[in-house]
Amino acid sequence: MIDTTTIRVTATSLKAFDTCPRQYALLHVEPVPFKERLVTAAGAFGSTLHKTLADFIRKGGHQLIDSDGLLSILLDHWDARPFPGPDVELTYFRRAKEILERFHGDPCSTTLCEELGVERFASWLKPRQGMTVSGRIDRIVRYEDGVIEAIDYKTARDVLTPERMASDFQSLCYRSLLGHRFFRTDPTKVRITNLYLDSLTPVTVTYTRDTFTRHWQAITTTVADIRAANRAMSEGATLEEAFPERPGPSCRICSVRHHCPSGSRAKATLPEATRGQGAIAS
Ligand code: SF4
Repeated sequence: MIDTTTIRVTATSLKAFDTCPRQYALLHVEPVPFKERLVTAAGAFGSTLHKTLADFIRKGGHQLIDSDGLLSILLDHWDARPFPGPDVELTYFRRAKEILERFHGDPCSTTLCEELGVERFASWLKPRQGMTVSGRIDRIVRYEDGVIEAIDYKTARDVLTPERMASDFQSLCYRSLLGHRFFRTDPTKVRITNLYLDSLTPVTVTYTRDTFTRHWQAITTTVADIRAANRAMSEGATLEEAFPERPGPSCRICSVRHHCPSGSRAKATLPEATRGQGAIAS
């Protein structure tokens, strides 16, 4: 029998399944409530910087807000609770301050002519190949030369090469979502950029139809695997059987590790985390 159920995915959910099927299941199949999910200091730091930059752009960005104003937006969003102690909090706060000072000092927007969206939600209008894709894009801009760019702010220090970025689920999903939203735009004029905030390093990918189709195959395969796991459960398998644990480096930042035997066993060796405090656990 052909399974025609539509699978709804985001870049994050695809990555979760690809990294560890159990993590995906605990987030999307039998989801652990938000208030129960864990927040690490690194996760809270990233979330706070994203909120700060989004507010900054919405309020007028470089043209209307000076660097002190940007730091005051940071303070509005800062929350000490996820940090395991004042020393750790201070280290992260100093890093956030340095990042924002550097970000403000380098507007890099002289040819930018239009802000098209900040933390903009986008979704396919109709399912295709049994799936729909949605996501929230940090920032979408249009330049004077007509190029449309989706910018994703990265607080990770691991800078992807353009080759790795081209096959990254997030770049592919963003490109697909931009294609749906700006479907009349020449595809060569749409690009995806990861901006690594610690060094203000941009890494950009522009797809051709061929490169996009080739890389998209990995998403089709992952959705087929999710469908197979869902089907196994509907045919009687337990969640544990259908979505096996796959312990690895991602356990360090896994928000549901206290619901997983591998994560619980490794607790002592993983970074401290607190239970999500509502807005932080975004
Ligand atoms: S703790 Fe590790 S093995 Fe367990 S769900 Fe999270 S990523 Fe998977």
